[in-house]
Amino acid sequence: MQKNKFARLCDDICANCKIDCCVKWSPTISEFDKARIRKIEKDENLFDGNLFNTPDNRCPFYNKAKKGCGIHEHRPLDCRIYPYSFWFELGRLDLWLDTKCPIAKKIVADEKFYKSAMETAKSELVHWSEGEIYAYLMASFNIDKFKKEVKGDKKNVFYRKEK
Ligand code: SF4
Ligand code: SF4
Repeated sequence: MQKNKFARLCDDICANCKIDCCVKWSPTISEFDKARIRKIEKDENLFDGNLFNTPDNRCPFYNKAKKGCGIHEHRPLDCRIYPYSFWFELGRLDLWLDTKCPIAKKIVADEKFYKSAMETAKSELVHWSEGEIYAYLMASFNIDKFKKEVKGDKKNVFYRKEK
């Protein structure tokens, strides 16, 4: 499949990036992602909750030799939308940007690049089911961490004042 203009621009930026996001990052794995990955990888111990079951939960599929994703067609939604991520708040689905990523910096600084990124994001979003987005949001919310924060240091618990 031929890549669109935005994907080609991203390829060029990634080729010169020193961040190694796939090496250092632990993507969130929803139940939809697990089903997709299990089609090609049968290891029953591959997942630890909503993360990979590896040291520091790092992704085991980065292909160092090819400097690319080893499961591109089956990669998790978290990777598909990066440097965006979803967050659901007050009945609204927000798109957040990880501004450490040079692509995100370009989206913020360059209007043409921003428009191209949003067009691509919208054309992708229409193909995702409500269930997949919901599963992603549930997987991103770490209930164990939240419970520890509630039981422990109260300063780490955030709450919103009603207006
Ligand atoms: S951090 Fe951004 S620019 Fe760098 S490799 Fe990852 S996606 Fe590409
Ligand atoms: S699944 Fe692919 S894109 Fe996602 S972190 Fe692993 S190597 Fe990178």
